[in-house]
Amino acid sequence: MSNSTLKFLGSDSGFGDNNNSAYIEIDNKLIIIDCGITVFNNLKKKFNFNKYKDIKVIITHLHNDHAGSLSQFILYLWHIFNKKAKVLSACKNIKEYLKITGTPDEAYTLVNIDTNIQFIETEHVKELDCYGFQLKINDKTILYTGDTKTLNPFLPYIKNSNELYVDVSKNGGVHLKFDDIVQDLQKIKQNGTDVYLMHIDDKEYIAKKSNGEFEIK
Ligand SMILES: [Zn+2]
Ligand SMILES: [Zn+2]
Repeated sequence: MSNSTLKFLGSDSGFGDNNNSAYIEIDNKLIIIDCGITVFNNLKKKFNFNKYKDIKVIITHLHNDHAGSLSQFILYLWHIFNKKAKVLSACKNIKEYLKITGTPDEAYTLVNIDTNIQFIETEHVKELDCYGFQLKINDKTILYTGDTKTLNPFLPYIKNSNELYVDVSKNGGVHLKFDDIVQDLQKIKQNGTDVYLMHIDDKEYIAKKSNGEFEIK
């Protein structure tokens, strides 16, 4: 049984059946991390949104597997539940993105700074600005890479983080290649930070290579 603070709606890479997306529920608050094209359906099935006083959506970047149903979700909360989502994101074009997908300004609030969260810009693809973040929640400090091809921007934050959620892949390219960083991850774990693997293109391969050492989401 996993003790991870984040639960996952999906942890597939971009073309998988369930886009990488996580959530945390605390009392009547819900935080969702990324809202890709497959996520809206999963959210709709899983949660009774009447229950929550505060619904936040953190968006790491604007690829469709991370933001593709964001507008849909905001509209759904607004029209069906009369609730205003709070979007947390540092993405430069998110306002424009929501505008051209028909999201009324009054249906959401958008902030790039909030207590307990710090966005960390990383490198993923040249077309988009992309962010991971450090989040303090439930007495835990969580470090989440989002999609990234490098661990470097996150290194200064690892020592102070209880849990690391890291984008890994078999093939590398615009994502971290598992074989290249497995030793770094082993050290991180030895130094006391729990490591969780996510956004995985080939779970069988990663499971075999990680050999039970890391939890696969
Ligand atoms: Zn992705
Ligand atoms: Zn991406």
